[in-house]
Amino acid sequence: MYEDGLPPLRDVINQYELNAKKALGQNFLTDLNLTGKIVRSAEGLGGTSLKDSIVYEVGPGPGALTRAILMNGAHRVVAVEMDPRCIEALKQVQAAYPGKLDVHEGDALKVDELALIGDTEGRPIKIIANLPYNVGTALLVKWLTLADWLPWYSSLTLMFQKEVGMRIVAEPRTKAYGRLSVLGQYRASSKIMFDVPARAFIPPPKVTSCIVGISPAPEQPDTPKQPIVEKLVSAAFNQRRKMLRTSLKALGQDPLPRLEAAGIKATCRAEELTVEDFCRLALEYGKN
Ligand code: SAM
Repeated sequence: MYEDGLPPLRDVINQYELNAKKALGQNFLTDLNLTGKIVRSAEGLGGTSLKDSIVYEVGPGPGALTRAILMNGAHRVVAVEMDPRCIEALKQVQAAYPGKLDVHEGDALKVDELALIGDTEGRPIKIIANLPYNVGTALLVKWLTLADWLPWYSSLTLMFQKEVGMRIVAEPRTKAYGRLSVLGQYRASSKIMFDVPARAFIPPPKVTSCIVGISPAPEQPDTPKQPIVEKLVSAAFNQRRKMLRTSLKALGQDPLPRLEAAGIKATCRAEELTVEDFCRLALEYGKN
């Protein structure tokens, strides 16, 4: 038994026969010291404290992260899980924390999170999740491309494959720099908090993972509109080896006057532009 009075995660996995399903990106954590460290890395992120917050978790699985979130004093946890076997296993956690854990069966890509969360009583919402690798990037893009900004969450604390984490925080002129870097940086600050070795999971994935912390920053008067940034970075990085004068033709307008107005050479390639360059160029595209 652990300090929460619940059995070790390995026993839960055995008891509920949670043999990992690859199609659901299932790599389970079992060490509550590690999940405690992940949860504490969310403390203060986005200027909000865990104790006052409602936590939205995707894919609680057998509950290693969920239990650490509750042990560290979150006000309430709302979780979405696709695997009914895990939902059954989580009933033990719900019983140990009456009224503090809502688990919904569903696909996190499709749910309306705020409808699931319901009344927040004015509390901040933090997203903390060990994301299924097969949908992790799509979920991050869903949360970074919300039209309303500041978004409904105050911080994101997410497990990714290290390679994806590196893309989120990448600097220009590096191989990892791309669409995710601009989306993760132009109105948020993103940081790799620490690495998590493959041996921490059951079954171990082939690669190292990492925890990324993201805090949204308020939009400034000169922050370009999100849909324009999204279209621009997609067009620019879809053909990342081409010069912008060519790759940006995909947007259907002559790129040359816009590049010139933004002070960017038409012969540059996407990876040479800073996040600020992309913002200036997006403002030009937003003018008509
Ligand atoms: N949080 C648990 C942990 O850390 O041990 C499990 C993490 S495991 C990497 C990902 C979890 O997400 C699995 O429990 C899986 O069933 C669930 N999952 C996969 N795709 C999902 C989706 N589209 N929506 C909600 N949950 C999903």
